[in-house]
Amino acid sequence: MLNTPALPDHYTFTFLITSSAHQKSFFYGESVHGMLIRNGSVLNLYVANSLMNMYAVFGRADHAYKVFDEMPVRDVFSWTSLLSSYAKNGKMWRAGEVFSEMPVRNDVSWAVMISGFVSCGMYTEALRYFHEMLRELTPNEAVLVCALSACAHLGSLDQGKWIHGYIDNNRIPETSNITTALIDMYAKCGRIDCAYNLFDNVPRRDVQNFTSMISGLSIHGLGEDAIHVFQQMLAEKLKPNGITILGVLNGCSHSGLVQQGSSIFYNMESLWGVVPKIEHYGCYIDMLGRAGYFAKAFGVLKSMPVSPDLVVWRALLSACRIHRNATFAERIVNHLEQLDPHTCAGTDVLLAKLYASLGKWENVALLRKIMGKKNNQLDIGCSWIEINGVVHEFRVSDTLHPQIVEVKEKLREILERVRLFGYAADATHVSFDISEEDKEHAVAWHSEKLAIAFGLMNTPPGASILIVKNLRTCEDCHTVLKAISKIFDREIIVRDRSRFHTFSEGKCSCKDYW
Ligand SMILES: [Zn+2]
Ligand SMILES: [Zn+2]
Repeated sequence: MLNTPALPDHYTFTFLITSSAHQKSFFYGESVHGMLIRNGSVLNLYVANSLMNMYAVFGRADHAYKVFDEMPVRDVFSWTSLLSSYAKNGKMWRAGEVFSEMPVRNDVSWAVMISGFVSCGMYTEALRYFHEMLRELTPNEAVLVCALSACAHLGSLDQGKWIHGYIDNNRIPETSNITTALIDMYAKCGRIDCAYNLFDNVPRRDVQNFTSMISGLSIHGLGEDAIHVFQQMLAEKLKPNGITILGVLNGCSHSGLVQQGSSIFYNMESLWGVVPKIEHYGCYIDMLGRAGYFAKAFGVLKSMPVSPDLVVWRALLSACRIHRNATFAERIVNHLEQLDPHTCAGTDVLLAKLYASLGKWENVALLRKIMGKKNNQLDIGCSWIEINGVVHEFRVSDTLHPQIVEVKEKLREILERVRLFGYAADATHVSFDISEEDKEHAVAWHSEKLAIAFGLMNTPPGASILIVKNLRTCEDCHTVLKAISKIFDREIIVRDRSRFHTFSEGKCSCKDYW
């Protein structure tokens, strides 16, 4: 085309740029960019905007900024493309700066900010921007879904309910995506009853609605109900996807429904065309291990077409912990030792804990030495609690919360009462514990303990308390929370990475099986 007298115009260039973005060809895109610089078309607003959009798709914020910087005129699309290239790279502080400098913002620019915060795990920021947006504009579907997902992550029921009310009051159509997000929000905020009510009243339910409902029931440990809804879904001639099946397998796992779970796992490919992925294997192995079928679990693990990751090993080791099966744990240790450490990062932490549980202290010392040299970056424990619509965040050994001194004082007082009640940290449990919180040296300052102290300080006697935790709750916290529910006569609901725990009268709904 370039050799013919008919010269390409700006529309042609825009088309070329868009097609390189679609084809995900960075090299092709860059060469088109070079050609545009040479013929001067890069100065055209539409051409430059599509270039920026292309770099945003590639996540190349540096390139996008260069185009932006050299533009003689910019419009809201240019600004938004720059914003989205920063957000895609997780550079939210930079996106925030650009956002505050923007002369005009539209619903897309707000959506980019809010979804950017959600994907970076900055949920409180996402909600702050959401409420600010409401002063200027009506949110679109994508923004509402993001805001609801932020509430779900934080366990922020008050804010989630408020958004639900906002949707109703403004007659915003409850699309499938919004309904799915609402079901997820209620389930993750501890209100499985509200989630079910909503789900039950949807006139034409689709796969997403069902999947959200099934996953919600599963994390609440309601395996039988999850299977029931799953069967309802099949009866309505809907085909489950990988996430639906993962949800129902999870439910079976937490409720010990091995037979039903096995039948779903072994038939998922032939009946619904879903090839089992590593997470399905992990869930199935977890299910077998929890029920005490160690040999079978190990057999599935060894025959997996994909190599097992840390999550799968952890599931099996967790089962050893529950059943106190040291012999089997030793077999796993032998197997892990033969693995290439690079293919199974983090196994050294598990190994150290297993050695400790087996009393092989020389091996523990050796491993700790090796581990000390490596930078084992694990997640930092973090818990959230909502009081009067405000979400408070606590990190392990927190020093940031404005009331931390009072909170720690209160926690000391609580732990003293718990001790008088007869609680003592069980050393074997601690050494055998394979929680993810190796960074949380002092179990006393685990984030959920700080959050519960804060909750007891700020809620009336008898009120139930909801806490959301980013990692799996450790044994020590689990024991302490059970004791607190009895001593202070409170219902405490904790959602950890694995499931919901409802502590009441000294017992937990998971029956110490998580
Ligand atoms: Zn803990
Ligand atoms: Zn529990």
